[in-house]
Amino acid sequence: MKVKFYESTREYFEKQDEFDRALKHVLEKGNFILGDQVAQLENGIQEYCQAKYAVGVASGTDALIIASDILGFKDGKEVITSPFTFLASASCITKHRGRPVFVDIDEETFSIDVNKVEEKITSNTVGILPIHLFNQMADMDRIMDIADKHRLRVLEDAAEAFGMRWKGMGRQYKHSGTIGDFGVFSFFPTKTLGGYGDGGMIITNNEELARKAKQYRVHGASKKYFYDNVGYNSRLDTLQAAILLIKLKYIDEAIRKRENIARLYMERLSGCENIRFPKIKGEQKSVYYVFNILAERRDELAAYLTENEIGYSIYYPRPLHVQECFKDLGYKKGDFPVAERAANEIIALPIYPEITTDEVEYICEKINAFYKN
Ligand SMILES: *Cc1c(COP(=O)(O)O)cnc(C)c1O
Repeated sequence: MKVKFYESTREYFEKQDEFDRALKHVLEKGNFILGDQVAQLENGIQEYCQAKYAVGVASGTDALIIASDILGFKDGKEVITSPFTFLASASCITKHRGRPVFVDIDEETFSIDVNKVEEKITSNTVGILPIHLFNQMADMDRIMDIADKHRLRVLEDAAEAFGMRWKGMGRQYKHSGTIGDFGVFSFFPTKTLGGYGDGGMIITNNEELARKAKQYRVHGASKKYFYDNVGYNSRLDTLQAAILLIKLKYIDEAIRKRENIARLYMERLSGCENIRFPKIKGEQKSVYYVFNILAERRDELAAYLTENEIGYSIYYPRPLHVQECFKDLGYKKGDFPVAERAANEIIALPIYPEITTDEVEYICEKINAFYKN
């Protein structure tokens, strides 16, 4: 049996008529730039996430860059974030010459270690950029407490966090991205709410920030050909919005399926003492965007999976503080031991709504067999 890490065509063929019809509709109308479907998707996401404003942009990376620009994460100012994340969580800060200040991660969740944030705050610090990574949100109670106390801005990298909700000490669940000043989503194809190409969204409850984000995605124009700031050309494509509107309709079902797959993995692999699972901390609703395990002899296991035609992915093999592109920040190997250890042990197994139970059983059988030898 061959199991790919991700296969978008299964979903497409399951709902082919619906996708084809939606695309044809856009093509026939010809409204390719900020067409109706973009506004419809923004409304749909506002409603789903209970956010006041949503602004569709060209990618999750652009969403982070635009939000960082607006929040003043630039020009030598410091922003506290994690080194164990996708590049874009920190490159959005350096893009305009801001300075990411890294803090090690929690051993069990891989999220930023909130106990180490406050000691990094200086008179130059302007923000915190928590990432809701893999399948759970960072501790937003602690982060918001620290931010309020020190008057810092919070940008939630919720690129992977569609559907996740944080309750914490509050009485009500709040969707990822709606707690800080800005939140961003990515619609990269593999993401929980993924399109068939690039796309992203900025959400906020602040009217002024929303107004700016809307201007910045069209070059900083307050009205056509009148520019208040130098912005970007970064709009969510109408065709992608049409695809995403269909996917949003089925999102709860897709999330449920991901959860069932994750449960099956945990059941089948829990007997294996060479494997550990990440822990979910804090009162929250997690969503299994990826299914990670911490594996002994990780690289050997990876080679064995390849031999057996099972896809996998390693998020992330090298933490950001030791990336070549950030060497000017002055960090060195050993600075963030928890992140460095995770980078050597972590491995993500295939998980997407259309993967079959048989496939997951097969993957688990192979992994259990690997450790018995
Ligand atoms: C996917 C991802 C991004 C970037 O999103 P794109 O849409 O690919 O630009 C940013 N941050 C994290 C944590 C991600 O996983």
